[in-house]
Amino acid sequence: MDKFDLDLSLLARLGGHSAPRTHRGAERFPGMTITYALIQMVEKISERSDGLARIVTKAKATKLLMNKANACVGCVYEKGGIEFQEHGPVIICTGGFGADFTSESLLAKYRPDLMHLPTTNGEHCTGDGIKMGEAIGAKTIDLEWVQVHPTGLVKPDEPDAKIKFLAAEALRGVGGIILDANGKRFANELGRRDYVTGEMWKNKPPFRLCLNKAASDEIIWHCKHYTGRGVMKFYASGADLAKDMGIDGQVLVSTHDAHYEASKKQEADPEGGKWPAYPSGKTHDEASGKTGSGKKFYHNCITGSQVLAEPFYVAIITPVIHYCMGGLEIDVNSSVINSNGKAIPGLYCAGEVAGGVHGNNRLGGNSLLDCVVFGRVAGLHCAQYMLGGDLKETNLKELIPKDTEKKKQPGESKPAPAAGASAPAKEPVQLDKPEVPVGELQAWPIEHFGKPSLGIEILGNHPIQAFVPITEPLAECFGMGEEPCTCCGLFAPPGPEKNKAMFVFGGGAMITTGCILVHAPLWPFAFGALVISKFNMDCAYCK
Ligand SMILES: Cc1cc2nc3c(=O)[nH]c(=O)nc-3n(C[C@H](O)[C@H](O)[C@H](O)COP(=O)(O)OP(=O)(O)OC[C@H]3O[C@@H](n4cnc5c(N)ncnc54)[C@H](O)[C@@H]3O)c2cc1C
Repeated sequence: MDKFDLDLSLLARLGGHSAPRTHRGAERFPGMTITYALIQMVEKISERSDGLARIVTKAKATKLLMNKANACVGCVYEKGGIEFQEHGPVIICTGGFGADFTSESLLAKYRPDLMHLPTTNGEHCTGDGIKMGEAIGAKTIDLEWVQVHPTGLVKPDEPDAKIKFLAAEALRGVGGIILDANGKRFANELGRRDYVTGEMWKNKPPFRLCLNKAASDEIIWHCKHYTGRGVMKFYASGADLAKDMGIDGQVLVSTHDAHYEASKKQEADPEGGKWPAYPSGKTHDEASGKTGSGKKFYHNCITGSQVLAEPFYVAIITPVIHYCMGGLEIDVNSSVINSNGKAIPGLYCAGEVAGGVHGNNRLGGNSLLDCVVFGRVAGLHCAQYMLGGDLKETNLKELIPKDTEKKKQPGESKPAPAAGASAPAKEPVQLDKPEVPVGELQAWPIEHFGKPSLGIEILGNHPIQAFVPITEPLAECFGMGEEPCTCCGLFAPPGPEKNKAMFVFGGGAMITTGCILVHAPLWPFAFGALVISKFNMDCAYCK
């Protein structure tokens, strides 16, 4: 937090937690806060003229290179239809496989029963790193443990979309309750994800995640963000909510009364309840107590008498594939191990691609923690492997180049073969030779929530008329209003192009085409618009 000036000042209890211990900032999602800071740092360091760090984008790693001693000495990647090699030790960070629904996928092999579910994962989550590891004899672990999260957000006009937004677990942490189609609670909202999902299967959909005023006030940035995206709805009163659900308002009154009373009894007599509680002890909460994992922790409860006049933020939720606990097996140094349990020299992994870190069901917040912890462990041990006794601690900020130390041409430099490594399969060629000023556009800072970032890449050569960064007006209305606004929106064509051809558009003056790739990790937050005067019919995305 200190090194990257991160705001992770708020502490919350999430599902399955026996104590509040997950950090986030007052605004934005924690993953966004963490990864943007890391991306920005590496981008700055990559501007050095000595090539200390180099970023290669739009590339797909396909194979690990091994030497005769079975050490990993590099990888093969494909970019723009051409194959390249990169030499040196490898740290795999390719994520999980929760979005691969092909018949050859790890999901189809290990969890065919989940193939019908939607997912919160981006289309890049296809388990490539696991497959590349398996191909060179790396050991895998726990591939059958795939987490189904209870709170995938259903967009009412696209109920069957295969990719869903996720309702952050913190929404339940601040006091969100889950109601069935009849307006009744049926589970401990702060139980583990597998438990809450299991109870949803037994009850009647649609399920609603409901935040009263106190709860939503505590996490208002998120609520407005989801509302702006059309996956959450603001109700001026509980009476309006009951009407929309098609139930009598008194049902909501009774549900809230019972919940409130249970919370008060729990406060007065923590061990006197009738039912078993999660993770231990007793609960007074009948609705969840009967499931055997009753509720013990309450936050922002309201009485039934408040309900009909109380404003609510409400989302329809459904179980979604969310996280892969399994992956490549690692040791304490984050080295990938082989089938004999021995570390494979020169091969490390970190993040979701690594298996066995979380047991059979990861708790909320622990993935980002795991990415950071094992990311650092892997980085340290990989550096030791490369540098031996020459390793010394370095402050990243000191690596940021001064103006005189910067590369003349921002953007990618030629891949440099690693010392002692064999020559690349093919001489790297300069890709993307645009006739239009794509380079300039790629370097254009885009404002998202007031912070500049690079989020847009142009595919192919397009006759670009103008690039219009949308800053304040969009940031204010996009996801920030009480209701989704109609003057701006996020356009995401369905099907295989879903993450490739989407764009924010605003106002009638702008046209959008599918010739734009918004960089996946940033895509929901990159605001801007390209005005393209003519489609390029040679481009796969324009056709
Ligand atoms: C919607 C959502 C919300 C979440 N919220 C939280 C949270 O609040 N707290 C928490 O702890 N966890 C959360 N998680 C889980 C956590 O975000 C992920 O587990 C974590 O981001 C995984 O990070 P990673 O770097 O391992 O993989 P990813 O973030 O998936 O990144 C993998 C990268 O590898 C690239 N890649 C894949 N294959 C190849 C290839 N063959 N060649 C080149 N590149 C490749 C991908 O393009 C991608 O950039 C959430 C997950 C989702 C989906």
